[in-house]
Amino acid sequence: MTTPASGAGNPISIVSEAVCQQIVGRPEAFKAVENVFAAMARGDAYNFPVVREAIGHADALYGFKSGFDRAGMALGVKSGGYWPGNVQKDLTNHQSTVILFDPDTGQLKSLVGGNYLTAVRTAAASAVSIAHLARKDAKVLGMIGAGHQSTFQLRAALEQRDFEKVVAWNPHPEHLPRLAAVCEELRVPFEAVTQQELGAQADVIITITSAFEPLLLKEWIKPGTHIACMGTDTKGKQEVDPALLAAASVFTDEVAQSVLLGEAQHAVASGLIAESDITPIGEVINGTHVGRRDDQEITLFDGTGVGLQDLAVASAAAELADQKGLSQTIVL
Ligand code: NAD
Repeated sequence: MTTPASGAGNPISIVSEAVCQQIVGRPEAFKAVENVFAAMARGDAYNFPVVREAIGHADALYGFKSGFDRAGMALGVKSGGYWPGNVQKDLTNHQSTVILFDPDTGQLKSLVGGNYLTAVRTAAASAVSIAHLARKDAKVLGMIGAGHQSTFQLRAALEQRDFEKVVAWNPHPEHLPRLAAVCEELRVPFEAVTQQELGAQADVIITITSAFEPLLLKEWIKPGTHIACMGTDTKGKQEVDPALLAAASVFTDEVAQSVLLGEAQHAVASGLIAESDITPIGEVINGTHVGRRDDQEITLFDGTGVGLQDLAVASAAAELADQKGLSQTIVL
């Protein structure tokens, strides 16, 4: 008796960047990310150690983010990184692809373009934090950062509360018209302000920069503010004053990553807060942590970006593309 060749005749769905943009909107990304944060806090989903290497070619950083979500049945890896010279080739500097496997058999299931999905899942993370932690009566949204990711964060955030105004600051002010254009499209008043004015006005603040030093000081922030720190995803990066984390209730996607390479790395290293002071936001989503306690509390979400977010949105993309007949299929 012969054993069939393993994997023979296995259909693989391929979901292009264009199809991802067509079928994974902000609501789908929000749901996928909220569910996976909840699964992580229940212990149903976990991230594997991240690999990120300077490959010594084209100044590129390349790596893998992977994990398994047994609730969402998502197993796989996001592979890719940062190629600084791509812009001259008319390509985005960040490049990634998600590879999904069947958790029951280990067979390759889908290849999904990861560039747009990374942007939309990152925006969903700060939106989930606003939905669960910001004051219900928040009226002014503050944006620090005006790069590629910023408009995704802005659009997703504006859907979470009845914001009446957006105030923004960026170290490179020439990029602010990018945010102003979104506000004009959505008919929300926009004002470019100083960092101090932003702190004085904003009820919710999103930071999404590549900064290596604090851009926001504790004394500029009003009681009751919610801050989503989204830019710090590497050792050494920093967007806010560590004293702000000491004054706030701190939440995150994954505590281990928050302490290692997220915004909390600095406050923990200097002894201002302990790892045990940081709460996974999934506990708030699951109702095992109360979240915001009152209108005076400052809440801070350290959104470090985990592989399970990528797998969650890629699974949603693969499922929707298959349902709508928009995936291409090859047989391996
Ligand atoms: P981008 O290069 O398009 O924009 C960079 C932003 O940071 C701009 O606002 C720029 O003015 C500002 N900036 C650049 N250098 C700076 C410096 N030295 N000090 C202060 N500000 C500086 O990048 P992007 O795609 O908008 O991403 C912004 C940040 O978000 C990056 O640090 C990126 O690594 C991070 N990111 C995080 C996640 C996550 O899941 N947490 C996901 C994607 C991107």
